[in-house]
Amino acid sequence: MIELSGLRRYVATAGRARLEADIKFIDMDADAPADTMYFEMDGNYGGMLVNDTYDPFLLPAMYMAMYFHTDIRIRGNVSKRLYKNLTWYGQKILCGYDDNIAPVKIIVDGFTSAERKGTLIGAGISCGVDSLSTLYDRFIREDDPDYRINALFFFNCGSNGQFGNICSENVAQVRCQRSIALAGELGLPLCPVDTNLHQFWRIQYKDDFLFISVYSCVLALQNAIRRYYMASGYSYNEIKSNGTTFEHYDLAGWCESFFLPLIQTESTELIVDGCQYRRVDKIKNFADWDIAQKYLNVCFKSLDNCGSCEKCMRTLLALEILGKLDNFADTFDLERYRKESFNYKVKAVANANRDCFYRELVDLAAENNFPMPVRRDCYAIGRQVVILEE
Ligand SMILES: [Zn+2]
Repeated sequence: MIELSGLRRYVATAGRARLEADIKFIDMDADAPADTMYFEMDGNYGGMLVNDTYDPFLLPAMYMAMYFHTDIRIRGNVSKRLYKNLTWYGQKILCGYDDNIAPVKIIVDGFTSAERKGTLIGAGISCGVDSLSTLYDRFIREDDPDYRINALFFFNCGSNGQFGNICSENVAQVRCQRSIALAGELGLPLCPVDTNLHQFWRIQYKDDFLFISVYSCVLALQNAIRRYYMASGYSYNEIKSNGTTFEHYDLAGWCESFFLPLIQTESTELIVDGCQYRRVDKIKNFADWDIAQKYLNVCFKSLDNCGSCEKCMRTLLALEILGKLDNFADTFDLERYRKESFNYKVKAVANANRDCFYRELVDLAAENNFPMPVRRDCYAIGRQVVILEE
């Protein structure tokens, strides 16, 4: 059994506010990687952290329990809505995603149903394509105060590398500073939140645990957040066409569009934003926005955009097709891109029927009468000869 107890919010070292709970793996074939799970932030914002509900700890504990086929005992209260949603629907979705997990019982002392008075309409900002497109739509284009973003967040919960690793912390620092600078230019506050949830990551959880951790960070801030936009990486059409290929491979692609709306409480709502677009349409959406031109960061390989990795090439080819490449001359190594882009275009055409990213690029080129390599020709890429089949 996984047991959560001892919920507390207190001032930790250096005046940082911390929300913490004890966690025990009881009669299990594995040790808990740590005795506590926590969320931590600047002490001036400490009141944003909830201190009367285990909601932020429920999801990762449930996810782990489902992998270990054991129940959860929570010595305190959780949101009734979240409890019902996870018990009745959420677990069923996760079981459909991965045969290795099983439904579990969640035993709680009681429920917290009180509505909080949070006023923040939040979103995360990583400076990638998805988060910039959401920010552009829900802040620049939106004027309804109930739905317009008024605060940004940076959750250090796994996407920057392994917990406790110095390199990961350095990466997080650089990315966080970039996000703070962007928020500053827009006049928005940015709240960085640290957590040790990713200390509990195991190889069988894959990157899926990262998504669970992000949702939990939002639930930790229920005192302040009323509504939170989660920028999705997949369009509705991709989900429809490729849904089964995401099974046991990519939790977000498999179910984020219908799992995420279940992650809500009486006071905080999570919204999936971005599925209404193809990825290339998000790029088109913000291509003329000076903030995106200055801050877009997509690179797989380095903290700056290298201009030649898969994600840089994918993004830059879309910009080239749209005639917007030079808008991003200050943020990408365009010289390197131009040297290597032809090979990438051949790769995109050759693989368009097997890969949704390439499919989008080839379709975008056709829509814009942009010349791509022609099928039935053959091309030399390095030492390889590629024949594009009809
Ligand atoms: Zn790159």
